[in-house]
Parts: sequence; C-alpha cells; structure tokens
Amino acid sequence: MLRGTRLELGRYPTPVDRVDALSRAGSTLWVKRDDLTSEAYGGNKVRKLELFLGAARDAGKRRIVTLGAVGSHQVVATALYGAREGFEVEAVLVPQPRSLHAELNLRAALSLGVRAIPAPAWALGPAVALGRLGRDAYFVPLGGSNTLGSLGFVDAARELAAQVRAGVLAEPDVVVVALGSGGTAAGLAAGLEREGLRTRVLGVAVSEPSFALGVMARRLARKAAAAAGSSPVAAARAAARIDVDGRWVGRGYGHAIGQGHAAREAAGRAGIALDPTYTEKAFACALALLETGRHANVLFWHTLSRAPIEPLVREGLHVPARLARLLR
Ligand SMILES: *Cc1c(COP(=O)(O)O)cnc(C)c1O
Repeated sequence: MLRGTRLELGRYPTPVDRVDALSRAGSTLWVKRDDLTSEAYGGNKVRKLELFLGAARDAGKRRIVTLGAVGSHQVVATALYGAREGFEVEAVLVPQPRSLHAELNLRAALSLGVRAIPAPAWALGPAVALGRLGRDAYFVPLGGSNTLGSLGFVDAARELAAQVRAGVLAEPDVVVVALGSGGTAAGLAAGLEREGLRTRVLGVAVSEPSFALGVMARRLARKAAAAAGSSPVAAARAAARIDVDGRWVGRGYGHAIGQGHAAREAAGRAGIALDPTYTEKAFACALALLETGRHANVLFWHTLSRAPIEPLVREGLHVPARLARLLR
C-alpha cells in the first residue's frame, strides 16, 4: 500500500471563485484557490507534502532530503512544514535564473533552517541528493512529483468534484494548470477520471522540451490512477485527459515571458497574484483560451502560495556565496 498517513497541513476545501471581470461571452473563468491551502505557506506543494511527511513519519525517518531549483517553492514548503513536523530538512539546490522572487524563496528556505547543498548543474542534482540519503532520510523528489505526491491531487480532484456536485461551480470543460514536474496535472487527471467528470487537463509547460513534460505527466497520471485503485483502462483514459500547451515557455524555466505583465494585471482583477516561473505562464494561457470562446467553463487551478514570503525571511540573514552563485 503506497498511501499511508496524511498529515493535515492545509485547510480544505479551498474556495472556487467565479471571475466575471475576465469571463467572455459564452466562456466563464473560474479559479480554484489553492493559493489558500494554508495561511503560513500555501500553493500546490502543501497537498503533496501532507502525504510525504506522513510517509516519512510512518517510516520513522528523522531527516527529509529534497532536490529543487535554488528559488523553488517546493523547497520553501518542505523547509517550513518539515521543520514544523520535527524533521531536519536538507535541500540539494540547482541553478535558476536570478529574479527577486527566486532570491526571496532562497532566503526564506535558509531562514527556515534548511541545510542547503549546492549542485553546480541540473544534471548533477540527483547524484548529489543520492549522496545525502541514508537510513534515517526520506526523499522528496524534484517538485514533489512522484506517484505518492500526485495522490495529493487525486484527493484535490475529489474535492473539486464535490464542489461541482454542490453547485459551487459548473462542471469545467478544462482545468488550466502550470506544468512543471507534472505531479499536479497528473493527479488531477487521475482524480477527475475517478470522479467521472468530463473535465480535461491543460498543462501549461514552464520549461523545454514541453513534449517531454507531457510524456512525464501522462506516465505519472497512469501510475497515480493505478495507485488510487483505477483499472488499467481507466488509468490510460486518465493519462489521455492531459493536453500540453508549449507556447508559453519563453526563454525557459524561471525566465519571465513578455505576456507576463498583462497576465499579472488581469490576475489582479481576479484577486490573485502570480509568479514569473509558473503562474504567469499558465494564466496567460488561460486568458488566451477564454478569448477563443471554445469552452463554456474554464477553471484556472491556482498553484502559487498567497502568503507573503517576506515574513519568513530572517532579518540580517547571510546567504553564502556558494548558494548565491546558483542565481544566475
Ligand atoms: C511547483 C509549482 C508548479 C508545478 O507543479 P508540478 O506538480 O511540479 O507540475 C506550479 N506552480 C507553482 C507556483 C509551483 O510552485
């Protein structure tokens, strides 16, 4: 049995907003507010960590080892909730383009007591992380995306289906969500299939090559569906629900896109804030999709924490040069 204890780190269900200000004739925009999964630090990593930290505790582990970009939300979330649940947290960090947002995330992770180990290149990250493992350590993968992490979003799809049945929102034709390491899109696809909704999942690639992100997400959807108890046929159908839009990557992971500014402004009218790495790209895609009028109901799945990051940063914190160099 893959699934063990689930720690309650967040508050559910997260709200769904109908955004009339950005809807078009015949195409309504809804927003799933996973920015509000927790007041301390929300976003999509919370649902994954509830399962990871539960599994680590079940296994009697003392340390959490994870891997991420130097400005990763996943590392911040793991640092915060890992420490809160009594684990020592280590993070192997790989380079990412410098932005204020990424730098703040690094400072927050360090302030939260994470032991950071720099890896000079993405390709070296997994080997460095492997070297940190041991019998007392539980490994949380890049982006928190493996079968167990995806099950957090199988649960999230069940939560959404209950909201549809309760009349909180119309059944979406499509969920638009940022596609990074794929666990979010994969779990949603598996969960939507299980719930019998017809909603498809449009993953907005945030890095190249986008087709590879799609392959990864579909494979993960199949595994998550099987782990949740779906038949092989249903698991294949879950995977086939995922489409990938590769037109919003721009210059690559962590690089802002030109349409980001307009997306941010529009998001302000929806009462949400965006980041350059993930949600500006995904929201820009959602806005373009609304313009086409192709779908009656478009649900943007918001994945960025609403909580301000500054309060997590310790004043006077010194960032060692070997870590600062990873922001390039
Ligand atoms: C990690 C992250 C994502 C990507 O989720 P995956 O499950 O890795 O695809 C999207 N948005 C934000 C804000 C994130 O931090």
